[in-house]
Amino acid sequence: MSLHESLTWLADFKERFDDDVKRLYAKEPLWSKCQNCPDGHCCGHGIYPVTMSRLNPFRLEEWWLQLEYVKDNFSEDEKKQLVRNVLSKRPHCIFLFDNRCSVHPARAWACRVHPYTISFHTNPDYFPVGQLAIPSCPAFAHTFSVKKNEIVVQSPAVLAKEPGSRLIQVKLKKRKPVWLLDATDYVNEFENRAGGEERSAEDWEALLSLAGEAGSKGGIALQMYLEKMQGLTRMPDGSIRF
Ligand code: SF4
Ligand code: SF4
Repeated sequence: MSLHESLTWLADFKERFDDDVKRLYAKEPLWSKCQNCPDGHCCGHGIYPVTMSRLNPFRLEEWWLQLEYVKDNFSEDEKKQLVRNVLSKRPHCIFLFDNRCSVHPARAWACRVHPYTISFHTNPDYFPVGQLAIPSCPAFAHTFSVKKNEIVVQSPAVLAKEPGSRLIQVKLKKRKPVWLLDATDYVNEFENRAGGEERSAEDWEALLSLAGEAGSKGGIALQMYLEKMQGLTRMPDGSIRF
């Protein structure tokens, strides 16, 4: 699959997924707190490290969509803030600005799935099977009787399914029934698309070039951050190895 095809698929995939999340919000208003997340807890503090893991087969595409968003939408001041975040070595995502996601419409799929989805797809490469990580952020810790910053994972029993949708109702411990989004079909599609193929050095070069356009002052800080995060090595002749 070419980079262009892969980007088109991923953008459409996320749009379809978001439509299902909207259906979930309508059914289970509990989760709508995430729409106006009060403190960005999922994006930092070393609790939910929602970074572009090297294990993500679409990490180049995810970076691409986010950096394209930065290039087209960030003011010069926002680009400078991004550089400060990169250089700060803080444990939060570099796109977290004042506890808000600065690339929200373009954020990665991994950022969209937590905390209200569950998958029963049997290959656990990218998504735990039948498990839900209970949010312990300030918005939900009290609701789910978990301590702030505690990581609690449950495998809830399915009580009901809404006909014609991917919404399911589950029973969590110490909690009345709650509706979730069953992400099994999406995880299946994600894995089928992944196919074990690595992106070429040319594609990584193109991404670094996009980082150059997106970043402040030629995007050097952003390019270096990407190279480090993704394990890319710049050889003396200028080529990239990974
Ligand atoms: S789980 Fe909490 S921290 Fe995470 S997005 Fe929702 S409200 Fe925000
Ligand atoms: S891209 Fe946005 S939603 Fe994802 S971890 Fe970073 S700040 Fe959070």
